[in-house]
Amino acid sequence: VAKENNFVKELADINSEFAQWYTDVVLKTDMVDYGPVKGTMVIKPYGFAIWENLKAYADKKFKEVGVENAYFPMLIPESYLKREAEHVEGFAPEVAVVTHAGGDKLAENLIIRPTSETIICEMYAKWIKSYRDLPVRMNQWCNVVRWEKTTRPFLRSREFLWQEGHTVYSNENDAQDDVKRMLDIYVDVAENLLAIPVLSGRKTEKEKFAGAVATYGIEAIMKDGKCLQAGTSHYLGQNFAKSSNIRFLNKSGELEYGYSTSWGISTRLIGALVMVHGDERGLKLPPRVAPIQVVIIPVASHKEGVIEKCREVEQLLLSEGIRVKLDDSDNTPGWKFNEYEMKGVPMRLEIGPRDIENGVATCVRRDVHEKFSLKLDDIATSVKSELTDIQNNMFALAKQNLENSIVEVNSFDQLVSVCDDKKVGLAYHCGEKECEVDIKDGTAIKTRVINCYDENHTCIKCGKKSKYRVYFGRQY
Ligand SMILES: [Zn+2]
Repeated sequence: VAKENNFVKELADINSEFAQWYTDVVLKTDMVDYGPVKGTMVIKPYGFAIWENLKAYADKKFKEVGVENAYFPMLIPESYLKREAEHVEGFAPEVAVVTHAGGDKLAENLIIRPTSETIICEMYAKWIKSYRDLPVRMNQWCNVVRWEKTTRPFLRSREFLWQEGHTVYSNENDAQDDVKRMLDIYVDVAENLLAIPVLSGRKTEKEKFAGAVATYGIEAIMKDGKCLQAGTSHYLGQNFAKSSNIRFLNKSGELEYGYSTSWGISTRLIGALVMVHGDERGLKLPPRVAPIQVVIIPVASHKEGVIEKCREVEQLLLSEGIRVKLDDSDNTPGWKFNEYEMKGVPMRLEIGPRDIENGVATCVRRDVHEKFSLKLDDIATSVKSELTDIQNNMFALAKQNLENSIVEVNSFDQLVSVCDDKKVGLAYHCGEKECEVDIKDGTAIKTRVINCYDENHTCIKCGKKSKYRVYFGRQY
């Protein structure tokens, strides 16, 4: 007996209950499950395969610009965190602390890394002696723990996976260049791999990373108009070099503090992928990151030659490097259509006796729901070209949504009504922290990234001279 598949009926309505729709999708597509400890998640194979594809793409980009991978311990002496004043203030509320181990109370508490600036800088201080040792550029792929109050799978989880890059340079310019270079890589990952268009730029003083001189970020806009910080790149100046004592002998033989940066992207991006592309049928994955790019579904598989032809096409596509799955289980074709649509597989090929007779496969694209025939003769070539087209089409559609989401606003009241209307406001602001807090209190509207510096206007909230034009929105 084929198992029931009423997935679409079980999904919350994407327009009226977007948050519930999201939770339904990530759970029902087997991407993730809740962990036993509240706020933690189990990333299941289908979700993890997306992460692996993302990781492979980003890791290659990092290595192309000379970054090396390493691994640092998860446990950090509590005293390390306290060395950088702003850093400890920013992270202390969400740090998990280990007080006992091996049956004894520890002489010094250990924290589970919420991020690794402190421990990595400590090690760098030991290794860096002279300008000849610089730059140092290391990245690690690891987990971090942040005890968040409200959680949601992928978007805000108490333990998540990420990469964190940490560098030290001998001068400010090179460090600033690194910050921009890594931000550009994040834009590349978001736009070219995930088909997620982003706003990128500098964060305000209020929203910068705890301990940074400047934070740059990429922001994606979800289908419900909320923003998601999807990656950050920080210029740390000499702040961490001073608190960890990273000094080097410069060419003149004088001791100088290094200039450092850090940058990261995480499993949050998977949440963005769901929220930017999904629809009433469930997930919709861009081919470049999809664990299964093409699913082959035999029709009337008991008829002679059907399964054989399906296997032949499967092998052909596999040999061309396409991630293909042949589902020859005894579920009905209809069940399979629903299953792979809900899982966001970009393309399905149906092959039955009539198709074989006509020398074709019936193709259905997940992005536009179009059904058409592809000749079996040159199936690999046409599948590849369809996949490229799906990728480009998904990006173009998401880009259109992003552009339609941004509204220029000239007053605070207008900003609130624009955000209530599921959009993002672009407005002039004075740059004062207190004024930004005034906007946030009671509205939950925050600045995202700075669009441009401009002192020729007035702040939408306090009426003082503007410092910049900045995107405002509600967030995940
Ligand atoms: Zn103001």
